[in-house]
Amino acid sequence: MAAIITYQLADVSCMLCGRLCGVARRDGPGAPLSFRPLGASDWQVVRSVSRLRCPSCGGSLILNEFEDRREFTAEAFLEEESQQPRRGRPPRPFRVPTRAA
Ligand SMILES: [Zn+2]
Repeated sequence: MAAIITYQLADVSCMLCGRLCGVARRDGPGAPLSFRPLGASDWQVVRSVSRLRCPSCGGSLILNEFEDRREFTAEAFLEEESQQPRRGRPPRPFRVPTRAA
């Protein structure tokens, strides 16, 4: 059961007018790409954003840099509730035991 899902998001903007046209999402490098036009709520699977066109000027769209995102699934929140202890103890510095000679 995956408690955390990771994915990548990138802004999709128009090459000609520079307008932000939507957001692209993928699970990782090489994974299928989804595109959500600005203001829309549904993702559509696309092969490449360069096939898409700017609604304002008809220019080609380009992907900006992908950013890693993490999201907790509902299961992760349930697990956290059921097991309260163990909330990430701060790491302790490693110490070499001193030996009395
Ligand atoms: Zn445009």
